[in-house]
Amino acid sequence: MAEFVIDPAAAVSLPVTGRDRHFPVAQIYCVGRNYADHAIEMGHNPDREAPFFFMKPGYALLSGGGSLRYPSMTQDLHHEVELVIALASGGEDIKVKEAQNLIYGFAVGIDLTRRDLQAQAKKLRRPWDAGKTFLHAAPCSELTPGSSMKPIHQAGISLRVNGEIRQSGNLDQMIWKVPEIIARLSECFPLRGGDLIFTGTPAGVGPVQVGDELHAEIDSIGSLRVSVEK
Ligand code: MN
Repeated sequence: MAEFVIDPAAAVSLPVTGRDRHFPVAQIYCVGRNYADHAIEMGHNPDREAPFFFMKPGYALLSGGGSLRYPSMTQDLHHEVELVIALASGGEDIKVKEAQNLIYGFAVGIDLTRRDLQAQAKKLRRPWDAGKTFLHAAPCSELTPGSSMKPIHQAGISLRVNGEIRQSGNLDQMIWKVPEIIARLSECFPLRGGDLIFTGTPAGVGPVQVGDELHAEIDSIGSLRVSVEK
């Protein structure tokens, strides 16, 4: 094995329900606008779009939830509650009917977004990275292992801020379903075991303030608590 000239960056991982061992995280992929009502609230026509993707780096992961500092450069941090897929294995050009075989488990995550920086990037036709990437921009619950689609077939997905419901939807509202997302993503990028895929958010995204307590939940998958500090 190669020796390094400096210490390598620390690996990131997620706890797994019922297991002592953690899930090692490779790449973090995200799907844009995958619920019709959220696409409409952002000013887009949900009928005409193929899925599109962006990424977050490993340091964005807030593993299992906890506290994060309100990020720099923004006055408008937004919450987006999302189903997260964890892959046990990868590949390229995966077929829709084979996609389920790649799944290790599911989790609930929040795609935190500096909405003002994202809006500016859209306006200037620049990349979204500054809007989507910062330390702890991707809080994620522990993983519920299992590749069955049953738990996610018709599951409620919600996010509360300080106990007040802000987002409430159902996974059956996803425009692109889990196997279709994996298949399409694998046409674009070489998927690997360890990859996480944030699958888009239902309507009701909105601002998060310092001092807020976020509680994200997906029925039969899990829940995630995040507090925002100064
Ligand atoms: Mn999102």
